[in-house]
Amino acid sequence: MDLKSLIRTIPDYPKAGVMFRDITSLIEHPEGFKESVQKLADPFRDQGITHVAGIEARGFIFGAGLAIELGVGFIPIRKAGKLPGETIGQNYALEYGVDTIEMHAGAVKAGDHVLLVDDLVATGGTAIAAISLIRRTGATLNHSAFVIDLPDLGGAEKIRAQDVETHFLVE
Ligand code: IMP
Repeated sequence: MDLKSLIRTIPDYPKAGVMFRDITSLIEHPEGFKESVQKLADPFRDQGITHVAGIEARGFIFGAGLAIELGVGFIPIRKAGKLPGETIGQNYALEYGVDTIEMHAGAVKAGDHVLLVDDLVATGGTAIAAISLIRRTGATLNHSAFVIDLPDLGGAEKIRAQDVETHFLVE
């Protein structure tokens, strides 16, 4: 299936000049959604992955499917203040300002092998913050999977420079 054709582009969202790649049109499509999750999982079926960590919010959609597909648990990585238990956090730079992501303390630990999932890589800043956060627990993170790469922004290279392999379905 041509997954790329199922992803629509919305001009000028969230602000003028941005071409927003919208995966809601992909997940509305039953075969497209199923094939996306299966293809995201394919390289990782024999890699000893113990957990899938998904980044809020669209990383939850693909990450939950991927965790079921791989037969492992799912770890939500959320914006600050959303998780009810004790958390650890990681700051990262935005174009203007700073943001924070969090995960539950103790969700993963040394000896675990975590696969990081999100819908899209742009600058790579969000994924790199999640990699730092997960590695601080002592868990191993060497693999990541995303539906979309925006190669002109160089995020994938920055992720690979952290010794994390990247798997994308479309550019
Ligand atoms: P980065 O941190 O610059 O790599 O931006 C990636 C994060 O922003 C991911 O969590 C994406 O969900 C989100 N994002 C940035 N641009 C888009 C887009 O065009 N479509 C969907 N999500 C986007």
